[in-house]
Amino acid sequence: MNAEPSVCIVGSMNMDLTVTTDKVPQQGETVMGNEFFANPGGKGANQATAAARMGANVHFIGAVGDDVFGQTLLANMKNEQIRTEGIDTIAETSTGTATIILSDQDNRIIVAPGANNLVTPELVKRHRDLIAGSDIVLLQLEVPMETIVAVVEAAAEIGVPVILNPAPYQKLPESVLKGCAWLTPNELEAAAFAEDPLYETIREKLIITRGASGASFTENGRERHVAGYDMSVMDTTGAGDTFNGALAAELARGTAPDEAIRTANAAAALSVTKVGAQGGMPEKQAVEAFLQ
Ligand code: ADP
Repeated sequence: MNAEPSVCIVGSMNMDLTVTTDKVPQQGETVMGNEFFANPGGKGANQATAAARMGANVHFIGAVGDDVFGQTLLANMKNEQIRTEGIDTIAETSTGTATIILSDQDNRIIVAPGANNLVTPELVKRHRDLIAGSDIVLLQLEVPMETIVAVVEAAAEIGVPVILNPAPYQKLPESVLKGCAWLTPNELEAAAFAEDPLYETIREKLIITRGASGASFTENGRERHVAGYDMSVMDTTGAGDTFNGALAAELARGTAPDEAIRTANAAAALSVTKVGAQGGMPEKQAVEAFLQ
């Protein structure tokens, strides 16, 4: 067992800007809202936070703009003990944001990727040593696909396994499907993979998250289910990100897949009992106590 598991994440960092309102404005209308929150988010940063809280040594490769949101996100990562040498601050670019209008009727979200679109293959190449120094690489699909392709290729050359969380779903190039060790779709994303001509090739790489009921994977041609936990739910935002970060930390530690999934289910289950994506992510000790 590896006492100092290290995870390298190449991904997105956003400032989530949430306003709550009783009334969603119509075209041309201005309404008075209720509360406003600014919280660190982005699937990359969320999963990095989950992995770091599970005790992994986490390096992040990404980008922010030279604005106050970028400074805040960098400070937040440092506070989570995430290493930020792989993060570029890019002039004349905005930090990624998600603007969220939250009402009783629905949620409306606009993502402005900003600097996340400038997480380029060239940036990854400059930080290749961070990939080489890690036990596992964790990716999501909020940075350009050409960067995903480049990371999978570099990790294969170096010999570091890659976990890819295919969210938000996009069709993946063959080199990515073949090159990564694990794919972690939710049930909707898994349904899209089932249509892929390469489905049989990737079947044993899939770890499918199934909400409250847990997750499943296929071993020697047989599907195995790893049960989830019955919790009193406060907020499921970030459950998938918690699962992925915890899974990466455990696999980097050398834990067998079924046991790593059990721990990831527990971490994600604890996260749904609290509000917020990063806000609800548990520390390793809490997950261990829960699993006792
Ligand atoms: P996503 O949020 O990405 O759509 P899922 O809904 O499958 O993904 O959730 C990811 C993981 O979070 C699940 O595999 C499970 O471990 C945990 N989880 C999600 N919802 C709940 C819930 N209501 N109760 C307990 N665990 C949950």
